[in-house]
Amino acid sequence: MALSRHLHFNGTTWECLLCDRAFKSRSALLAHCEYTSRHEWCGQCHRVFASSAAKKRHLQYAAVHQPKCKVCGRILRNKNNLRMHQQTHQPRNKECYADDCIQLFKTFSGMLIHLESGSCPSGVDETRIDGLARSFYRSIEFTTDADSGGWIYICNGCERECSKLSGLFQHVEDALDCGEFMLECLEGLREFIEEHI
Ligand SMILES: [Zn+2]
Ligand SMILES: [Zn+2]
Ligand SMILES: [Zn+2]
Ligand SMILES: [Zn+2]
Ligand SMILES: [Zn+2]
Repeated sequence: MALSRHLHFNGTTWECLLCDRAFKSRSALLAHCEYTSRHEWCGQCHRVFASSAAKKRHLQYAAVHQPKCKVCGRILRNKNNLRMHQQTHQPRNKECYADDCIQLFKTFSGMLIHLESGSCPSGVDETRIDGLARSFYRSIEFTTDADSGGWIYICNGCERECSKLSGLFQHVEDALDCGEFMLECLEGLREFIEEHI
């Protein structure tokens, strides 16, 4: 493997140009790079960085550190995008909760979009979904007063507001941290909707 920037082999000794120090072996130089507090190190790439900002940029942009889809190998910009992208590989196996509808969905938020749009043969629409959500006994945990009057859905993990319940579910399906935070309550709501629709 070629030596990183800031490191140099002069034919006899292995040098750290940042510290102006020489080592007898490559492994001694690399050990220095790993353990010194004078500069930064990426152990996976064996690369040295003069500052933590430079290392941060490296972790953010180097292809090897980007989240990668295990199914198709596509590289995504961040974990949320990866999660969203991976849903495209998921089977459509969630059947619409309405009895007289056989449409299939990959995610619950996808089903909610269908129901809110009013295109479900059951006649369920956004008003009905909102009504169910509001009558769930834990609705205070995912709704809040809207500036414009009335109320609006809110993610209690990040305070993001959503005008539709599908938007809130989509958000927590995509944002891992918020998903964990809201999971129990929204799972309860999902079951409540399944029972009452
Ligand atoms: Zn050094
Ligand atoms: Zn690296
Ligand atoms: Zn993929
Ligand atoms: Zn339906
Ligand atoms: Zn959130």
